[in-house]
Amino acid sequence: MSRMMQQYHDAKNQHPGMIVLFRNGDFYELFEDDAELGSRVLGITLTKRDGSIPMAGVPVHKLEHYLGLLLRAGHRVAVCEQMEDPDPKKKIIHREVNRIVTPGTVTDDGLLDPRAPNHLVAVAPGKPGFFGLAWVDLSTGHFAATDVPAPRLQDELSRLSAVECLYAEGLTNAVSQAAGTYLPKSRVARPDWTFDPATALAALKTHFAVGTLTGFGFDDAQSCLVAAGAVVIYLQETLKASLQHIRRLRPHRPDALLTLDEVTRRSLELTRTLRDNQRDGSLLSVLDRTVTPMGARLLHDSVLAPLTDATAISARLDAVEELLKDHALRQSVRDQLDACSDMQRLTTRVSTAKAGPRDLAAIARTLRHLPAVKAKLTGRRSKLLQDLEKRLELCPDIRELLDKAIEDDPPHIAKEGGVIRPGFSAELDELRALTTDGKNWIARYQAQEITRTGIGSLKVGYNEIDGYYLEITNANETKTPPEYKHQKTLKNAKRYYTPALREYEEKVVTAQDKSRALELQLFVTLRDQVAVQTPRLLNTAEVLAALDMLAALAELAAARNYVRPAFVEEPVLDIRDGRHPVLDQILPPGTFVPNDVAFGPDDGMFWLVTGPNMAGKSTFLRQAALITLMAHVGSFVPAKSAKVGLTDRIFTRVGASDELSRGQSTFMVEMTEAANILNNATARSLVILDEIGRGTSTYDGVSLAWAMTEYLHDTLACRTLFATHYHELAQLAASLPRLRNYNVLVRELADEIVFLHKIAPGNAERSYGIHVARLAGVPGSVLARATAVLGTLEKGHDLSNVPAAPVAAPDVTRPIPLPTPATPPRIEPPKPKIVQPPEAPRRKSKPQAA
Ligand code: ADP
Repeated sequence: MSRMMQQYHDAKNQHPGMIVLFRNGDFYELFEDDAELGSRVLGITLTKRDGSIPMAGVPVHKLEHYLGLLLRAGHRVAVCEQMEDPDPKKKIIHREVNRIVTPGTVTDDGLLDPRAPNHLVAVAPGKPGFFGLAWVDLSTGHFAATDVPAPRLQDELSRLSAVECLYAEGLTNAVSQAAGTYLPKSRVARPDWTFDPATALAALKTHFAVGTLTGFGFDDAQSCLVAAGAVVIYLQETLKASLQHIRRLRPHRPDALLTLDEVTRRSLELTRTLRDNQRDGSLLSVLDRTVTPMGARLLHDSVLAPLTDATAISARLDAVEELLKDHALRQSVRDQLDACSDMQRLTTRVSTAKAGPRDLAAIARTLRHLPAVKAKLTGRRSKLLQDLEKRLELCPDIRELLDKAIEDDPPHIAKEGGVIRPGFSAELDELRALTTDGKNWIARYQAQEITRTGIGSLKVGYNEIDGYYLEITNANETKTPPEYKHQKTLKNAKRYYTPALREYEEKVVTAQDKSRALELQLFVTLRDQVAVQTPRLLNTAEVLAALDMLAALAELAAARNYVRPAFVEEPVLDIRDGRHPVLDQILPPGTFVPNDVAFGPDDGMFWLVTGPNMAGKSTFLRQAALITLMAHVGSFVPAKSAKVGLTDRIFTRVGASDELSRGQSTFMVEMTEAANILNNATARSLVILDEIGRGTSTYDGVSLAWAMTEYLHDTLACRTLFATHYHELAQLAASLPRLRNYNVLVRELADEIVFLHKIAPGNAERSYGIHVARLAGVPGSVLARATAVLGTLEKGHDLSNVPAAPVAAPDVTRPIPLPTPATPPRIEPPKPKIVQPPEAPRRKSKPQAA
């Protein structure tokens, strides 16, 4: 094996599970399996080295682009650099892995989404039925942990949008099983000892320099601390990253947050749309009017984890209201924030020694805006704004230091010079003066020599190889003074030097080298000085994030005419003229039809909503859930008025989702989701059911829906909106006192139907399925035939009475059908219309027959 390949294998062995990008001249090469993977994931050409070793490469200047692609595909990458310039005398260049990039540990701005958090998680075994979970966003230093019941592991992983997950090697199966498809692509099975409770806890305590984690609000026996310790060991060991900016571990308290399971989060399209998994079109996309990435990330987190504490919610609402009412205040706060940079990620880069001159300049600029922000917050009425004002540290010492030291618009790289302001360091100023003086002297020298020699075109030039020289054209050669020493002959001129010129050159070049070296050293010292202040800067960044989120919610409320929701203890929900927050913004102004929902002692707690497809049932249901959720985030809501009872969980079971790809049948998924609701909803929960029992026969389906309705109504007594096609369920109103029938109005015009999108009391008479099929473009002959079949069924006849189908000539314009299979597929005849729903065994009064 060549020595280079030996070097490559060493790097590979030292970084198990990682792709090694191996610097070779102008390329980073991938070899063997990595090369094949690279060609697949990156679309680069696969070649062979030495005739047999698979190899692929990416040009050095496109490294960041390809790193991004590898990260997004969930890979962890070790970059192996050439640590010295190629030297023909040496056989092999020294190479070293000096950069490790993994999805959960990147801090480079270009590789991160500025508006979303980036979580590395670790899962540790817990007490029976539990896992210990810890997560860190290395780009902001946010580190938290909690013990989760095993069935909720998936929800937590999805809430965190975990991008990289650590677990003990021995626990691989257990974790994969519990996490299912929510395990991120980047999975790291770590040596078991890193998850050993004693070792992990010790690492955690050493990192925080504490004897116990009780000060952070934990009990030292919690298994999530083992996970947190394993995170620390991973970061220290594998990444050799500085963890200075991780100053505390926060206990995550799920009971203080409105619980949203994974299904609900997804089907309500909180941060991504169901159809194409895009941010655009999600709730977050219409709510987000933040002007800083810090605020955007906080809003992202808050939407996924709304509050349940009435005091905390009203504190936010008070602040939003104050910012809403005072337009000028809101405007100027937002203008100031707009000029602030991402202090969280900047500070993190400073404390991990990755910040460049521009990062420090950005911190300086941001600090300059703080006094104005603080002034705006002074004397505010709302408690939260007052608290933020108190917490906002102006960090005048850091600001003064940076203002004195860093140029406003420095270059990217510190060693280029031009970073440090004049006046900051006397030594630097002196070196710079020497450089400038030297340059001035040379200019004067040129003028003097022109006069002395009488050669008007004589000039003093400079290049890296020749240094300073005097250049005289061939035409003037005879006038060359004898003391000029010949250096080089060009086509039309000759170059000379003089001892005086050499002496000054020495001074200028040395001074320049010295000044650059000094500048670099000053910069690094400065960065270290700022790094020590990490906790204060991060605290300030948090204040800016909170303020940005509140001002953005106020801006949204103003722009979209939202109202403040009133919170009450009782489980009511009374929304007047509510609008769907997303459709309200997407549809042309004035076209969205507002609707009421009224749950309360007099209005029922269970609304059964019927109506044709496309009428607006789903929209109405989701709207109620989204408004409830927004209220718990502390946002104003799209309605004329809203009274919201504190809610502990929102559950949704919505239509067929993309679960098929997860290997379960639609019906199984539906029932699993229903089971989750029936087992976990409380009297404080809001339940949204959009169709249930559709994936099975009508008899089965209606029976299940019937029994579930009774259970939700009688046993759980939670606020429930249930949209269904089973019109038969409407009869339950007779026996269930808190159930109300509602339907979405449609107007029939001759053959057409018009959707009015208005929810009104009463149940729908008809389904208009054939009308909707027409709208969808189902051929006319099929529609006519379906109408005939429906007519027979509606008359109460069974299907043997359906008149024979008219024989039509085959449509020759259509593609030729495939040959009929030997065994024809089994076709189930449609079930006759149900007239008598199954009896519910628990109830005394028998439901009325239709
Ligand atoms: P369903 O669940 O009854 O099949 P949807 O709720 O999916 O119907 O609504 C179908 C379409 O009707 C929506 O995509 C939307 O464009 C429109 N729509 C629904 N509700 C309203 C409304 N209140 N105002 C205006 N358009 C609406």
